[in-house]
Amino acid sequence: MNNLENLKERVIGMSKSTEWEVAKDEWEVERCEEDKKAQTDCVCGKENIKYLFTIRNKENGNRLHPIGSTCIKKFGRNDLDEVAKKYVDRFKLLHAVEDGEFIELSPKYFSRKILLSLYKDGAFRDTKYNGYNGINDYEFLLKMFNMRNKENMTEGQRRKVSAIILNEIKPFLKQELENKM
Ligand SMILES: [Zn+2]
Repeated sequence: MNNLENLKERVIGMSKSTEWEVAKDEWEVERCEEDKKAQTDCVCGKENIKYLFTIRNKENGNRLHPIGSTCIKKFGRNDLDEVAKKYVDRFKLLHAVEDGEFIELSPKYFSRKILLSLYKDGAFRDTKYNGYNGINDYEFLLKMFNMRNKENMTEGQRRKVSAIILNEIKPFLKQELENKM
């Protein structure tokens, strides 16, 4: 059996439906861990996966783990792909921040979508620096991100971008990604 057949068999075995086309829609992404050394094997047998997803069946509560990102795509569902991408993007962003990479608001790590999902998930806390309203930090970063020419950012704006990334986004990502490991 190849990996795809293995995956389908594992998924169907824990689903309510016995038809792949129905069974595949019963699942949601519950969490994601990272194996930096990529020494883990997917439930389908694929070796050396890096992002280890746990998926949960909404009908019966069954869980399957670990599933690699390639196999998440095999479900052929945009919603699962979006959640999976969100986790992968966040791991990459966290490592860039931790490695002290000078990331500013580089499109390599940021997008409007990423900023919005960080805001929605509560990355920007209410602090005295944002007038006790986290949305101010989100809107500021968005405005800076949208700046056509980042060279025009003032030194103060640059410092504020860094401060928000280091003091708000970084701890949020650490808590969200590392506590789940
Ligand atoms: Zn797999």
